[in-house]
Amino acid sequence: MKTDVGFRAIIFFFSFTMLILGAAPMAIAKPHVEKAAFGKASGNRPVEIYTLTNTSGAEVRIMTYGGTVVSLRVPDRNGKFADVVLGFDSVADYEKSTSYIGALIGRYGNRIALGRFTLNGTEYRLATNNGVNHLHGGPKGYDKVIWKARPSVDQNGANLELSYISRDGEEGYPGNLKVTVIYTLTEQNELKIVYTATADRDTIVNLTHHSYFNLAGAGYGDILRHELKLNASRFTPTDAGSIPTGELRSVKGTPFDFTTPTAIGKRIAADDEQIRFGKGYDHNFVLDRSDDGIWLAATVYEPTSGRVMDVLTTEPGMQFYSGNFLDGSVSGKSGQMYLKNSGFCLESQHFPDSPNQPKFPSTTLKKGQKYSTTTIYRFSAR
Ligand code: BGC
Repeated sequence: MKTDVGFRAIIFFFSFTMLILGAAPMAIAKPHVEKAAFGKASGNRPVEIYTLTNTSGAEVRIMTYGGTVVSLRVPDRNGKFADVVLGFDSVADYEKSTSYIGALIGRYGNRIALGRFTLNGTEYRLATNNGVNHLHGGPKGYDKVIWKARPSVDQNGANLELSYISRDGEEGYPGNLKVTVIYTLTEQNELKIVYTATADRDTIVNLTHHSYFNLAGAGYGDILRHELKLNASRFTPTDAGSIPTGELRSVKGTPFDFTTPTAIGKRIAADDEQIRFGKGYDHNFVLDRSDDGIWLAATVYEPTSGRVMDVLTTEPGMQFYSGNFLDGSVSGKSGQMYLKNSGFCLESQHFPDSPNQPKFPSTTLKKGQKYSTTTIYRFSAR
């Protein structure tokens, strides 16, 4: 009898504890991070995916392959959540893709003419992967490597710190580069990205992020009716191969004037040489900034959902790419077709081909110096 009472007490205590433990996380929503397997990359290498959630239920999923944002769920004006970035369901699809969907980009985001540059009197030859030019770090850029991940939660929100050591000579770049990228999902529905790097030799660095956004929801048509405001009164026109000519051209009177909110589709087919070269928008904008602090560079508004995305950055430039080379040949999450203009990118950056353009802000990172930039994608609705 005595044993029975004791046994019952233990069962009661155990059930009560389980109830508290089990119910607590559901009752008090707090920013948190969960880890899961996301399949294997070639060579049987495991890839993990981390889900960062904030108190209001916004959620970003980031995998270790490419440091890629796989999905990002934010509310519309009625509080309804949708995934606003393009992506794939499997690592194999990401490995096949050459569109840099959702990925971290390095060592040098954007193009370097002929894959060549000279630093301290030595010419370096990079791997070429965009005709004769080098694009987004080469055929095996940071979008195609597996990053080391460290999740955490602090007063800033839910964080995922990713790190990667880019070896001397990788894709042709000089010096070992230690790169750390911290993604934070804040309580204000911001996806904040802090990039830092140090090198053991002088090198060049230009890191960015390559999500394709559709604020109506990924897979829900094109982005042509999204209204864009870009705080840039100049852009860097290019040659037919998308290499800047060196000119900083005024946007006034051109299809590149987004200084007041304008639908992306309004002038995307304009009879304009630069539009023809890019097959739409695929250009670097010179941000009208007065210092190098964090600064509102762009705002995008999607009229049907009311979603708004602000882009704040410490960088001097922004590549606005209207998804011109998506052609329906790849199908994305849940079998959705990604056709031309089904997503747009706003890539904060230094200007393309800076190592060969003495008048552009420098992208040289000296041995022992710290590279540090921040970009925030901030979501709201109206
Ligand atoms: C470039 C485009 C390129 C695309 C790759 C963009 O950042 O500006 O020219 O085609 O990335 O998906």
